[in-house]
Amino acid sequence: MAIESINPYTGRVLRRFRAFSWAKTERILAQASRAATSWPRTTFAERSSLMHRAAALLRERQDELARLMALEMGKPVADGRAEIEKCALTCDYYADHAAEFLRDEEVSTVARRSFIAYEPLGVVLAIMPWNFPFWQVIRFAAPALMAGNVALLKHASNVPQCALALESIFHDAGFPPATFRTLLIGSDLVEKLLQDDRVMAATLTGSELAGSKVAATAGANIKKTVLELGGSDPFVVLADADLELAAKTAAQARMVNAGQSCIAAKRFIVHKSIVKPFISQLKTHLLALRTGDPLDAATQYGPLARPDLADELTKQVEDSVKAGAKIELHGGQSKPGTALFRPMIISGVKPNQPAYHEELFGPVAIVLEARDDDEAVRLANDSRFGLGAAIWTRDLARGEALARRIAAGAVFVNSMVKSSPEMPFGGIKKSGYGRELSYLGIREFVNQKSVWIG
Ligand code: NDP
Repeated sequence: MAIESINPYTGRVLRRFRAFSWAKTERILAQASRAATSWPRTTFAERSSLMHRAAALLRERQDELARLMALEMGKPVADGRAEIEKCALTCDYYADHAAEFLRDEEVSTVARRSFIAYEPLGVVLAIMPWNFPFWQVIRFAAPALMAGNVALLKHASNVPQCALALESIFHDAGFPPATFRTLLIGSDLVEKLLQDDRVMAATLTGSELAGSKVAATAGANIKKTVLELGGSDPFVVLADADLELAAKTAAQARMVNAGQSCIAAKRFIVHKSIVKPFISQLKTHLLALRTGDPLDAATQYGPLARPDLADELTKQVEDSVKAGAKIELHGGQSKPGTALFRPMIISGVKPNQPAYHEELFGPVAIVLEARDDDEAVRLANDSRFGLGAAIWTRDLARGEALARRIAAGAVFVNSMVKSSPEMPFGGIKKSGYGRELSYLGIREFVNQKSVWIG
């Protein structure tokens, strides 16, 4: 199993790592398991001061970490800096709020006293993707560590240097080393870890396939999982929307991380009366974006993280076009095996095409026409996924009413879908289950213990 850093912009191999053997992985697991008994004995105040220190280190290392992401997975440095700031903010958020979120909750019963206590589960295995190499990990690790859990990270095989940088942040912040460890392992060892009784739970962000495999093994071993999988988020533009703002935001929402985001807007469902100007404005905004070396501060979108991801996207588009979709904006790969993929818009997308049902994890916008609100809702919900959705209308009451009819974990009216530490994040249907962030996120990996004093 190759664990390699390859610059997707140049194709150059930056570093190769030898994957950990099971013996080494097992030694680290044993240390983590021991830490899971001592770490919960620290106070919230002690954990909070370490977590604030981790936030400070993220900010101190912001440039260096943004550069690492640019090199390993092609994220432009300006976006990388923003990602690191958001990580720091989230560390601060849980440092400040964990004690309140996990405070004993008194419950009125016939007992003398009864309450719910929130206690850590122990070692939690996090299987994470490459698209937001720091953010995806921090939004799990900050609440998990604050709750008193211990984290083992199996990061995506193309971002090993980001994975090691995360470990250094927690260690340098003063966390006991065994409370957060990076395992440089392929997915083959994940099954063994999940079968081990010392691993209490797992969280995975990534594809449906990886999620279902991990959840199956965890289920067979009676372990809780949180899954944050793909999405094909609808972005609904009603006839009364602020069209200019909607089209400008649509371009941003589709191009987040060169389109490689689970909550990127993917299906633009537009009222038929404004579909032409919408496509024309979206095209203008997409064409205005600068591509180039992710290390260049002026670059607005870089290559996809790996050439195989670009090849797969090309195939999804080509198969859809063969089945009747129309290309409104030509872009795509210049040749197979290369990671750069220029933005595209396709229309005429019908249920017989891959673009209708599958997640397009890159800069391809699908435009679908709707006659009225009911058809817009029907199209929005006609998806295996249910992660996020956006609705654009000047009538806020209508926006809110439609938001309640959309089957998704989050609906934003007159805004693109985004995550923030205060609001829960997660999906329904094939987008996964469980929630990250907010007070709900920190309560996923805890024993919600009933205590009854008679
Ligand atoms: P994967 O789902 O394969 O990778 C995500 C993580 O899961 C990685 O750490 C990977 O490890 C691990 N993994 C993969 N297979 C298994 C397995 N059988 N058992 C245990 N762990 C596993 O994503 P890809 O990189 O292949 O991307 C493919 C597609 O997944 C994308 O096109 C997109 O649709 C979706 N995706 C969604 C993301 C999201 O944010 N929801 C993020 C990334 C991808 P390793 O790298 O070693 O294989």
